[in-house]
Amino acid sequence: MSNKDSFYEHVAQTSDAPMGLEIARAEGPYIYTTDGKEYVDFISGIAVSSLGHRHPNVVEAVKRQVDRHLHVMVYGEFIQEPQSAYAELLTSQLPDKLDRVYFVNSGTEANEGALKLAKKYTGRHKFVGFHHGYHGDTHGSLSVTGRDVYRDPYLPLLPDVDFLDFNSFDGLETIDGETAAVIMEPIQGEGGIIPANKEWLQAVRRRCNEVGALLIFDEIQTGFYRTGSLFAFQGYDVMPDIMSLAKAMGGGMPMGAFVSSSEIFEVFKHDPPLNHVTTFGGHPVSCAAAHATLTELLSDDYGGRATKIEQIAKKELTADGISEIRGVGAMLGMELADRDLTQKVVEACFKKGIILGWTLHSNTLVRLAPPLIIEEQLLRETLRSINRQVNRFSE
Ligand code: PMP
Repeated sequence: MSNKDSFYEHVAQTSDAPMGLEIARAEGPYIYTTDGKEYVDFISGIAVSSLGHRHPNVVEAVKRQVDRHLHVMVYGEFIQEPQSAYAELLTSQLPDKLDRVYFVNSGTEANEGALKLAKKYTGRHKFVGFHHGYHGDTHGSLSVTGRDVYRDPYLPLLPDVDFLDFNSFDGLETIDGETAAVIMEPIQGEGGIIPANKEWLQAVRRRCNEVGALLIFDEIQTGFYRTGSLFAFQGYDVMPDIMSLAKAMGGGMPMGAFVSSSEIFEVFKHDPPLNHVTTFGGHPVSCAAAHATLTELLSDDYGGRATKIEQIAKKELTADGISEIRGVGAMLGMELADRDLTQKVVEACFKKGIILGWTLHSNTLVRLAPPLIIEEQLLRETLRSINRQVNRFSE
């Protein structure tokens, strides 16, 4: 059986129309397929490969760790150098209060942990999320995800979740003395690349402080310089009580975490002990990859690169069919007139060797999330090619 046949017959599918590229290898900003084609990865495996594919420092760190040890024990029992070293490096880049890291394997697991931590710390069970927010597909994360079409097939979910309008001051009183936590993306990703407005975010923070609710920032997509600062919250002057991370964190290896204060994390140790455990969270190879990734990110001006990507994209993408380019840094969305045009542009770009994608909650928004390492010339060429396709189909 060919790989293609096995994929379609034996790998569980999530839609009737997978992209279906058969991957041979990937390097830097490029993905190469078994039929010899080269594609520019303009979505970075969805905000994962910020350093491009197979960054040499990440590959080297993985190889080194593979030669030392793989899994040895469930998370939290043994002292493993890659975990400890990475937790120290990560927290050294964060405000003093975010001084502890719980390692997991994915974004949704990070949010599951964050929600449970907030519940246990506050002794409350109500959550507030936002319309069009996306936090993952396991039950807890889905419960606070603000799009009914994805929630409805799985009801009932967590019972006490209220959704508010993103960027609206109306309804903030819904966050009250029974609220364990408010969970949000500082810039909504799957909801259509919608940045929070600063005054509003600060008002949400104030309201949480007034009523003793925790504020969880899901920085799974926005983290690691995608939006120009190491974490998006640093661009807003608003600090979360808990932050969830994944995607670009592992430099291409599965890795996630939720970060909070030692005081808050204290509740995970007792009543009963071991009340939130994971077998593979903080896998040594993933931690070694994450350490190499963050070290590289801190060694150069990757924030500046993200900001430059935004400036160049806004200059190059001028076709009439584009109604808006929005987003921050290298987390951008190109809004087109309608679904038909969007589909044609994405397909035509794909044929020209450019991988673009939609966001989960929008039919008219093309996601642009190139790797931060992309050279200016390739960036401009790719953007011009996208612009030409929009012009071609919007006449
Ligand atoms: N939160 C956000 C903001 C995300 O963008 C995603 C993934 N698109 C997730 C959570 C879920 O992450 P994962 O797919 O690793 O579970």
